[in-house]
Amino acid sequence: MLKKELGMFTFLDLLEHYPNRHIDKTKVNKIREINPQTEFIQVVGTLLHYEIVGAGRGKRLVAQLKDSTGILELAWFQGISWVVKNLHVGSDYLVFGKTGFFNGKPQIVHPEIEVYIPAKADGKDFLEPVYPTTEKLKARGFNGRQMGKLTYTLFSQLQPKDIIENIPQGILERLQLMGRYEAYRNIHFPASPVLYEKAMHRLKFDELFIAQVRLNLVRLERHRVSRGAVFEKVGDYFNTLYSKYLPFELTGAQKRVLKEIRADTGRGHQMNRLLQGDVGSGKTIVALLSMLLAADNGYQSCFMAPTEILAQQHFNSLGRLLKEMPVEIAILTGSTKAKERRRVLQGLLDDTIHFVVGTHAVIEDVVQFKNLGLVIVDEQHRFGVAQRAKLWGKATIPPHVLVMTATPIPRTLAMTAYGDLDYSVMDELPPGRQPITTVHRYETARANVMDFVRTEIDKGRQVYFIYPLIEESEKMSYEDLMQGYEQVKSFFPEPKFRISMVHGRQPGEQKETNMQRFVSGDTQIMVSTTVIEVGVDVPNASVMVIESAEKFGLSQLHQLRGRVGRGIEKSFCILLTGTKASKEARERIKVMCATNDGFRIAEKDLEIRGPGDIEGTRQSGALNFKIASIVNDKVLLECAREEAEKLVSGDAELSMTKNLPLKTFLQSQKGKNGWSKIS
Ligand code: ADP
Ligand code: MG
Repeated sequence: MLKKELGMFTFLDLLEHYPNRHIDKTKVNKIREINPQTEFIQVVGTLLHYEIVGAGRGKRLVAQLKDSTGILELAWFQGISWVVKNLHVGSDYLVFGKTGFFNGKPQIVHPEIEVYIPAKADGKDFLEPVYPTTEKLKARGFNGRQMGKLTYTLFSQLQPKDIIENIPQGILERLQLMGRYEAYRNIHFPASPVLYEKAMHRLKFDELFIAQVRLNLVRLERHRVSRGAVFEKVGDYFNTLYSKYLPFELTGAQKRVLKEIRADTGRGHQMNRLLQGDVGSGKTIVALLSMLLAADNGYQSCFMAPTEILAQQHFNSLGRLLKEMPVEIAILTGSTKAKERRRVLQGLLDDTIHFVVGTHAVIEDVVQFKNLGLVIVDEQHRFGVAQRAKLWGKATIPPHVLVMTATPIPRTLAMTAYGDLDYSVMDELPPGRQPITTVHRYETARANVMDFVRTEIDKGRQVYFIYPLIEESEKMSYEDLMQGYEQVKSFFPEPKFRISMVHGRQPGEQKETNMQRFVSGDTQIMVSTTVIEVGVDVPNASVMVIESAEKFGLSQLHQLRGRVGRGIEKSFCILLTGTKASKEARERIKVMCATNDGFRIAEKDLEIRGPGDIEGTRQSGALNFKIASIVNDKVLLECAREEAEKLVSGDAELSMTKNLPLKTFLQSQKGKNGWSKIS
């Protein structure tokens, strides 16, 4: 039962089944204190009476408990026969549970109940652990307190030597961490609140540290054993573009990242690098220069984009930069015509095409390369691990992989979920960018918003109107979009104003035409869904109006807003909402109005939503900590990361005497975590 319900197999599992609270047995409430605001309560009383009433699904056990101030009703709907066996009229019981009112009388449904034994006078055992359990177990009478008894029994037989210390002594001393045995003991049966806190601290560190050691080992192993194409020289392709066709000076951050990429690709090991750069930080040019580096060394490159629109746009802008150079670049998407498709496939096979830009279509099995050396994955969070792995299998020597994302992954998250990738940050925007001003307006102020939009258009600027479309197949929001389009049209009538509309249901070609008209400035207004969320680059666009902004997540809002503020003009983002928005939605909007800093926004997002939700990390299983939290324990995580890095880089085999217990521990834990699966 324990196995199935809680996944417990060993005594260590039991030790790591941490209590979610402790009961101070000396703290007992009076029944009279219960009011509609009361949540949980602990009372001691005498059992007056009990009976089973009703039948079938309505069958329940009802009991009355009396203390000096009143009567409390207790009710059970499940496990009745078991509970009844343990009830004795006239005995005293300690009862704990969530209170409610039934027919105006206070009641606890499925309380935790046990025979009352006064707390010992010596002060020990005052704090009794209560454990998370499941409804099923509870129904069988195995509640959180019974679990405590089991743990107590375990501890009565456990010696300090049974629990090997997994953290090296030096670290324990330096960070003044409690020993492992003592920590387990105090988290379950704290001798004092201070020791409880120390135990908590140690076990959180433990969890984070072990995870970080694992990640570092994986990364190091990959550095050591993986083979990779060697890009040993910077040649004509790279140099020509750099000196002749680059329309601007690279930022310091871009240069630094390029250096990191050069170092990575020159060593003969496969590069696995995550490049984070806020929207507009200029990742594309870094990608292009890396691709030219590959070409200089005789390798082909593949650039993968999350949407067709974006693939097309990358193809166009890269093509423009490469116009005067003898580099063949092709595009391959779902809507590439059969004949062109055959040409591209052939070209990749015989190496007459150097670069291919595409969507998912480039990872289909039919796409084979002569000599693939570099894979760029733009906006990685849309691609699953399996899909990326497929790309890596396309060459005999695995190609280097550069994953780019503008979704700013909070540092703590990157340290855990992507901790085995090497990691670069572009924390600098190209010069001359003005911060975007973001405001919140209610729909009732729409007319004013439209007036403002009109003045911007009159100045020659372009404008986005974004509508939420949760699922492209969702009929409701599709109709909202169409209504929105009509509404925008009524404010901005043709022929003075020209409007493009782009959404997921259009055929690829139509999307492309509409997009292209906006890019070229032929239309001043773009009405769209979130299909333009990532990457679209129209520097002349200076206003973004986001309709029903309350329906968007924080990182999505930030991504969208990144479509403006890309030129030298002052840009604006207007978040429109109804008057009724949830507390969380209001908080998101407040954050958006307060900052343009993607990293701060991502941190906030993590705080508001919790880690479980962050896109792309859900399947990794990397965030399932038992006691630590990447939101609340950031400082500790940084510390664990640092210690793990230091340790692994000094002793990659964990063969030094001081690290042997750790090694043994890790080996005993094999298969418990999915770390090796992440890449
Ligand atoms: P992102 O990192 O969001 O993918 P892009 O690569 O699309 O950003 O670059 C955003 C814009 O900034 C593009 O118009 C690009 O040409 C321009 N850009 C990139 N690097 C620089 C630079 N060093 N100086 C000036 N403009 C730059
Ligand atoms: Mg981009």
